[in-house]
This record gives sequence, structure tokens and C-alpha cells, in this order.
Amino acid sequence: MVRYVYDFRDGDRGLADLLGGKGANLAEMTRLGLPVPPGFTVTTEACRAFLATGEEPEGMSAEISRHLSALETATGRLLGQPDDPLLLSVRSGARFSMPGMMETVLDIGLNDASVLGLAKVSGSERFAWDSYRRLVQMFGSTVMGVDPALFDEAMTLLKEARKAPDDLHLDASDLAWLVESYKRLIRNETGRDFPQSPAQQLQQAVLAVFRSWNAARARLYRHREHIPDDLGTAVTVQRMVFGNLGPDSGSGVAFTRDPATGRPGLYGDYLPNAQGEDVVAGIRDTMTLAELERLDPRSYQRLHDHARTLERHYRDLCDIEFTIERGTLWMLQTRVGKRTAEAAFAIAAELVGEGLITVDEGLNRVNGEGLARLMFPRFDTDRAGDVLAHGVPASPGAAVGAAVFDSAEAVRRAAAGEQVVLVREETTPDDLPGMVAAQAVLTSRGGKTSHAAVVARGMGRVCVCGAQDLVVNTGARRFTARDGIVVEEGDVISVDGSVGAVYPGKVPLIASATMRYLESGEQADSVVAAVARTLEHADVVRRLEVRANADTPEDAARARRFGAQGIGLCRTEHMFLGERRKLVEEMILARTDAGREQALAALLPLQRQDFAGILEAMDGLPVTIRLLDPPLHEFLPDRVQLAVRIASAEASGGRPDPHDVELLDAVNRMHEENPMLGLRGVRLGLVVPGLVAMQVRAVAEAVVERTRAGGSPRAEIMVPLVGAVEELRLAREEVTRVLAEVSEETGVPVRCPVGTMIELPRAALTAGRIAEEAEFFSFGTNDLTQTTWGFSRDDVEAAFFPAYLDKDVFATSPFETLDREGVGRLVRIAVEEGRAARPGLQTGVCGEHGGDPESIHFFHAVGLDYVSCSPFRVPVARLEAGRAAL
Ligand code: PEP
Ligand code: MG
Repeated sequence: MVRYVYDFRDGDRGLADLLGGKGANLAEMTRLGLPVPPGFTVTTEACRAFLATGEEPEGMSAEISRHLSALETATGRLLGQPDDPLLLSVRSGARFSMPGMMETVLDIGLNDASVLGLAKVSGSERFAWDSYRRLVQMFGSTVMGVDPALFDEAMTLLKEARKAPDDLHLDASDLAWLVESYKRLIRNETGRDFPQSPAQQLQQAVLAVFRSWNAARARLYRHREHIPDDLGTAVTVQRMVFGNLGPDSGSGVAFTRDPATGRPGLYGDYLPNAQGEDVVAGIRDTMTLAELERLDPRSYQRLHDHARTLERHYRDLCDIEFTIERGTLWMLQTRVGKRTAEAAFAIAAELVGEGLITVDEGLNRVNGEGLARLMFPRFDTDRAGDVLAHGVPASPGAAVGAAVFDSAEAVRRAAAGEQVVLVREETTPDDLPGMVAAQAVLTSRGGKTSHAAVVARGMGRVCVCGAQDLVVNTGARRFTARDGIVVEEGDVISVDGSVGAVYPGKVPLIASATMRYLESGEQADSVVAAVARTLEHADVVRRLEVRANADTPEDAARARRFGAQGIGLCRTEHMFLGERRKLVEEMILARTDAGREQALAALLPLQRQDFAGILEAMDGLPVTIRLLDPPLHEFLPDRVQLAVRIASAEASGGRPDPHDVELLDAVNRMHEENPMLGLRGVRLGLVVPGLVAMQVRAVAEAVVERTRAGGSPRAEIMVPLVGAVEELRLAREEVTRVLAEVSEETGVPVRCPVGTMIELPRAALTAGRIAEEAEFFSFGTNDLTQTTWGFSRDDVEAAFFPAYLDKDVFATSPFETLDREGVGRLVRIAVEEGRAARPGLQTGVCGEHGGDPESIHFFHAVGLDYVSCSPFRVPVARLEAGRAAL
């Protein structure tokens, strides 16, 4: 018999798949003896069954009734009992936190009779009618599907009639009138009545929360966060406690440390005389917990103690939702809290320092994406204009964009390629598409725990919230800042989420403190010190080496400063561009061997110089130099432009430039429909006489030059796009011949390992054969992905990947994160068969995936020796290679 309902006393945090994060953690807090209002959780399994069939799973409702009875016995009150009702909250809670994306219904159990009982026992008619008003409104919109704006309209009309500035100025009879008008509204809109039966209310609310799993905004959020669509949500049903019972009551959100900076100490927002959702919605400005300490020291002390208990128990930053009901503190939720990248590093280091977690665990609490974020540049405030506004630094980073005032406009402009900043008074879950589209989110209300702050932090968006200097006028599409400065929609602003400042125009950028550390070793603050220690530990534990893709001495030197242990891919094609293009043209156009040899001879010293510079920057470390790869026509002028130039010269009666005519002839000869599948890679080396010899000679002579200068050059020669061992054998014969020639000529023995890229499925599938000729393999996963999927790497990402991502064909582009199932399988086969044929064969990866965290974990698992990535990803790869080894 499947079990669909768990009492809080029955579960624990290990059951998060079944009970959702909220349900599992409420159970855990109950077990820890913290003051949690009693309740139970309906499982995600029940939700999945309901969503699959549209029917309540058999037995669920009976189980809910049984647990309700137990709850009634424990609290000594019946649900909706007329003289002293038990009231319930019904809240969503999925395995992964989806802040505000699903539904909640509070005050279940109120009806025309029990509202009077509640008034009596609470001693406040206003409170009772306000609670009933909230229930009818939430139930009407969430469960019965009435447009929430209609309730707001009714409220606004009443406030106008009563000349009340806000709902706190409405009295009990106003609210009773509002309940009636809401009920009428529901009847008119749906043809049904608001149910008076508390049991029916409960049952319908549970199903409505299940359904909200598939609400559009919830789907969008999951898509962005890569949360699977088939998990379903659990539903927690819990005795209501009230933060809106007067000045000695209130609701708040707390973090056991500051989630933006990681600084220790209880941190959060509190709103007296309010329900929890008022805090998160940022409707009124909150007070700090320091102010709560002055207001209610006893509750504050308890909160402080419970926070400590939770942090010691979870051994991590926790966030907490709590309510104080007439001086009694209740814990309504906890979870391991979201945090910024800065805070992640700082907290991990602190917890290691406090002995609460091991160094390995500390490494696992941070990630490469966070480190990459810390490497982003910052605003140069010395060159910024006067601050438009200060607010709460809710999610760090520097962002520039045009101010926009609603989600739809943000989406529209971003789709047209514009960078935007979404400016709102406060955000709601419906603003999610705009938040996704924007570079930054700026609000005039709400604290670090407001919806805007929580969601932006989770997504890594820059966010400044609660910027009280701003008056946001969404209707007029403008805001007014300090000194009456007006910013209209489309005006560019700069938002600094690290310090909470907003500037006019585009502020220039400078290197971040983390970047300065990576460049120079300077440890400017405790976050940077934490980064440094984490990277050091990653270097100790990782098995994968990290190299860089670099093809200039400057990039090589930077990569080395960032910790690269060599160069895994030096592409030689850039050396054929710029001023040297002329020489390449001559080589291609040459009609005679002598002409071609002349052009190659002119290129030789230039290439030698390039290689010598790179070998010097990487002295003592391996440098893998790849022979020329792209199709030759990439070095010639564009075919259409040439044809147009010639045709227009002819049309105006003149004679076209003979060089143009000659070039066009060559371009036409070399034209290919699918150049990426054409004459490129090793094929080029085999059909263009002298090309391989020139490149290898340049490498070998550079090695000699460096050796004579007292260096330790370690060049490796890599042949691209090999599909058959015969190709490699031919290329290698040429390489070996030239190396021997140069050794002989100079008297300096030049020994360069010769290997190949594995970037065609055929190469992977015949790796055992290819390894007979290759001293190393380097996986070119860009081309391997392209050729395995049959996707053109230059076209598909814009053409149809958005649709593929939308339809969940894959969660991320296979050019970004390695497709383990397909491309990964080829990698695995090639490593196994290559090593079987040649024990000790060295293997690495130099496609873009070499810098992608998830892919790095895979490369570790299949046993590659190294990953190679762009210099700026080297620190990220070091960190992730360390995490992969844990
Ligand atoms: C690859 O294909 O993965 C690779 C590294 O080579 P390129 O990107 O230069 O084709
Ligand atoms: Mg390639």
C-alpha cells in the first residue's frame, strides 16, 4: 500500500524527494525539538499520480482525513470549529526550492460561522475578518481560477470609498463587506460558491497546489534552473500561526549568515503585525533583526539560538522563515540557503575554520561558475557619475542596460539584442521572464529576502533592491531618482549589485579583486583569501592536469599566471592572418613549386618567431602545437565581394584588377559546399605540398633556438581531423623527416611527441589503430560534437537550438556541456581502445568543453590526463577538477 501522507514527526531531511524540501526540513526541525506548528506533508508521489491521471490517487483523501483527525486531537480543536477553529496553511514544497513560483492557501477552515469564533478567541474582529478576506481571495484566485486583479480592484474601490491610504485603515465591518463582495465575485465569475465546508476547502486547496506545479511561471523557472519537469511538488498542511495579531506579532525571514557577503551573524528582515507573504512580497519596508532585538529581545534570543542549532546541524548557511504570534516564536521553514558566489567562498572557508566541515567539504560547497562570476570586472567608480540611488546590495556584479519598466518590455528588447535593466517597485513571480531577460533587476522596495533578491541571487542576476531614493512610475515608464533626476524608459543605467549603487549611463569597468589575485597574487580581502585557499586545495586533490588553449605569448603567459600546466592547443591559423595574409595568398595562388616554396620560405621565420615566444612563456611545460586546420579559402577574400568588385569594374567600362581576377579564379576552384567537411585538417597537409614541412620546421627551429638560449622547450606536434590511421601515418612520416633534418642541420636533437586530435567519430571508433601512430590523443570535442550530431557548429545555435532547448531535446547546448550519452561514449571508447593499443597513451581534451564544469567531471571520470581551455577558464577548471576528484 503506497503511503501518501507523512506527519512531521515521521519524516526527516533524507526524505526530500518524497516530502519536498519544505516538508523534509519541517520534519527535521520537529525532530530537533524546535517550535514547529504541527502538521503533515502530502507526498510528491501523490502529486505525480494526480498530474498523470487528473484523478486523486486512491486512498489519499482518507489518509489526509486520518492525519487531520490526529492534528485535531493534538491541538484540541477541530478544523473550522465554529467557536474556536483550527486553521491550516496549505503550501507547496518541491524537491528544489522554486521561490514563489507555486501556490499557497492560508487560513483554511474559516467560513461564515468560524470567522465569528476566531474573532472571539483572538479578541480582534478586524483580524478575524481580515483573515477570512485573505482566504476567500487566495482560494478564489488559486483554487477557483478567478483573475486576482478583480479582487485587487474591489479592494481599491473600497479603500477609495473609505479614503483609506492602505488596508490597515479598513475596519472589521469594511472587511466583512469585502468578504461578501469577494464571494459575489467568485459566484459571478465561476458560477460556483466559495465552499463553506472546511474539509472541502482543504481537499481542493491540496489539489490546486498540485496543479500549480504546471503553472507557466513554474515551468519557466524549472527550465532556467534545469529542474526536471516530472518531480512534482509535495504539499505541507500545517496549523496556522498568526503574525498579524497586533504589535507583539510579526513575520520574518532570517539567514544564519549574510547571504550576500557571507559575514557571520544572524541576518534578515522582520515585519511587525504581518503575515509571512507580506515580507517576501516587499509590500511594506521591513525592519532589521537588530531592530527586532530591541523590540522583542526574548523572541530574538530564541531565534538566535535556533539559528545556531540549525547551522550546527546542517553544517551550512540556513535560511529560516519564522512568525512571532503574541510573543511566541514559531519556525515555519528552513533550508540550506541560496547565496552569492562571494558568500559561498567566504562561508565555506569560515566553516572549515570553525571545524564544522572538512577542507574537502569546503571545496564542494563552491563551484566553478561562482569563481567565474568573481572574475568578472567591476565598475570603476572613479569614472562614474553621481549616484542615482543607493539600495540593498542583493546580488553582486556590475551590469549596464537600458531601463525598462515591465517584464514584457524587458523580454521584447532583450530578444532584439538590447541589454536591459528591469526596474520595478517590487517584483512578483510573474516578473520572472523579464528577470531572465534582464542584465540586472532594480527595485525601490523590499530587502535582501524580497522576491527580487532571492530569485536574482539564485539566477546569478545582478540585483539592487529597496532603493528608496527611487520613485518608480511604471505607468509613465520612468523613475525619479535623487535630486529629482528623471530616468526614462530606454535610458542607460549602471547597476552595482556588490555595493548597492545605481549610476547614470555606462560606467567603465576594471578588474575584480579576484582577478587581481589571479594576475598578481594580491589578496585584497577575505573573500579573495578564501578563493586562494580553495584553489590551493583543489590543486592538491585533483588528478586532471589543466592546460590552456593559447596561441600568443601574451595568452600563454596569462594562462601560466592563472595556473595552467602547459598549452593543450596552440592553433596556428591566427599566425596566417593580418599582414601575413598576403604571403598565404601567394602560397595558395602559386602555379609552380618554386613559387609556393618561396611563399612558404617567407612564412617560416614568422612562424618560428611565434613558436619561440610561446615556448619561452611556457618554458619547461608542454606546448601542443596543432598543424594548420581550417579550409584555405578562409584566408582568401570573400567570393561574392570579389565577384561584385570585378563586375562593377567591367560595368563602368574599365578593366578589373588582374589580381582580383586571379584571386576569384582560385576562390572558385576551392569553393566547397560544406567546407567544414572538406579540404581541411590533415587533408590539407597531405595535399598542399610543403605546408606541413614548413610548420614543423618552424616548430623545430624554435625548439633549437630556445634550447640554445638555455630554455627547456617542450613542443608537441598535433595533427588535426584525422579519420584514418593512414592519414596520420603519412603526416607523421613528414613530421619525423623534418625533425630529423633540423636535428641534423643544427646538431641539437629535437624530439617532439607527435599525436592527433580525435574529432571525428571514425577516429574514435578506430582509436586502437590510430594509437599505433599517435603518442597522444587530444579530443576536439567541438568538431566531435558537430560530426557526431551532424550539427553545423557555426549555424545551429542561432537557427534552432532555442526551439530544441524549449522542447527539452537537451537541457543545455551540446556545444557547451558534453553530451555524455553520445559524444561522451565515443570519448570513452577511444580512451579505452587507444590505451589498450598503446599503454601510457596520453589523453586530453581541447574543445570548449575543457572549461565547462559539468564536462570536466566527465573527463575526470573517463580518466583523461588533462583538460585544456581558454586562459580565463583555467582557474575554473582547476577548481572543478579538484571537486571532481572528491
Ligand atoms: C575542436 O574541434 O574541438 C577543436 C579544439 O578544434 P577547433 O575548435 O579549432 O576546430
Ligand atoms: Mg576541431
